[in-house]
Amino acid sequence: MTDTTREIRLASRPEGEPVPDNFELAEVPLPQPGAGEVQVRNSYLSVDPYMRGRMRDAKSYVPPFQVGEVLQGGAVGQVVASNGADLQEGAWVQSMNGWREHYTSDGSGLLPVDPDLAPVSTSLGVLGMPGLTAWYGLTQIGNPKQGETVFVSAAAGAVGSVVGQLARLRGARAVGSAGSPEKVAFLTDELGFDAAFDYKQQDLNRALREHCPDGIDVYFDNVGGDHLEAALTRLNTFARVPLCGMVSAYNLKEPPPGPRNLASLLVSRATITGFIVTDHYDRYAEFAQEVGGYVASGELRYRETVVDGIERMPEAFIGLLQGDNTGKMLVRVGPNPS
Ligand code: NDP
Repeated sequence: MTDTTREIRLASRPEGEPVPDNFELAEVPLPQPGAGEVQVRNSYLSVDPYMRGRMRDAKSYVPPFQVGEVLQGGAVGQVVASNGADLQEGAWVQSMNGWREHYTSDGSGLLPVDPDLAPVSTSLGVLGMPGLTAWYGLTQIGNPKQGETVFVSAAAGAVGSVVGQLARLRGARAVGSAGSPEKVAFLTDELGFDAAFDYKQQDLNRALREHCPDGIDVYFDNVGGDHLEAALTRLNTFARVPLCGMVSAYNLKEPPPGPRNLASLLVSRATITGFIVTDHYDRYAEFAQEVGGYVASGELRYRETVVDGIERMPEAFIGLLQGDNTGKMLVRVGPNPS
């Protein structure tokens, strides 16, 4: 047990792109577990694009972070002391208790993680929130049929890499966009996407004409902006657009104007559906059975980009929004299961 720990706080609200000065590393006293409480040592902290939205002082589906407070985010760690709590020493748990190395808890909000099923880090990625987001958005909103074309943006990221592989496992054709030649090769050579392109090198409209010659039946939107506009133009009749995220806009000071071609929805009679994963945790068991099975059999692959040390959280977060990650972005702050 330790009696101090380190945490990352929001020092100031970013204006545009976040900078290191927006974050503060603090060493703080750690309360010893009282009766029925546990102390947890985190091993991995989750770095997620939605956290950028919570750094704004604006109304959203979750309240904004407060300046001076620890950043609340996903984490997985091990119980290192249990004071008569239901959770035993040695148990692995996932929490939303934030960007900190340790915490003391009465157990509320802690979800058990089985380290024998898969590496514990996957509980923050392919088998956790991003995986559920991909599964829900693709299968429940996109609902691709055999032979249809699914286009996904930010395809080499945590959500996008699962979307494309699930689309293929359902018999659809998977096309992805990503921001570097290495990511494009990862999509086609390692994950089995049917086609992928580097949106920084190729004109989006031309790339979609080339790689989606039969049009797009499902556009899984992680990016918004020019990607959304280009995809709308290529939608087939009765296409579906799960609106998952708009990462191209997260660092902008002013929201960009909407797509100029909304009228194309009249022609395609397509449906755009926004969704937030936290509304769908009742489907977690169904997701875990399907995607967990694919991961165990090797039919679905995943990658993690791991940065070491809590002091590097700001760097990891800033880098995530600039595309430094392939697959899930994580920061390692403690040991793996032995
Ligand atoms: P990723 O792992 O995909 O990381 C973000 C990626 O966004 C970067 O790697 C970068 O890749 C890409 N990116 C950054 N800026 C741009 C840009 N201007 N244009 C195109 N791509 C850009 O993150 P996640 O998988 O965790 O999240 C993906 C999306 O899903 C985000 O929009 C996120 O907010 C959303 N999301 C929504 C949820 C919901 O409940 N609706 C839940 C979870 C995530 P590259 O190198 O390819 O540019």
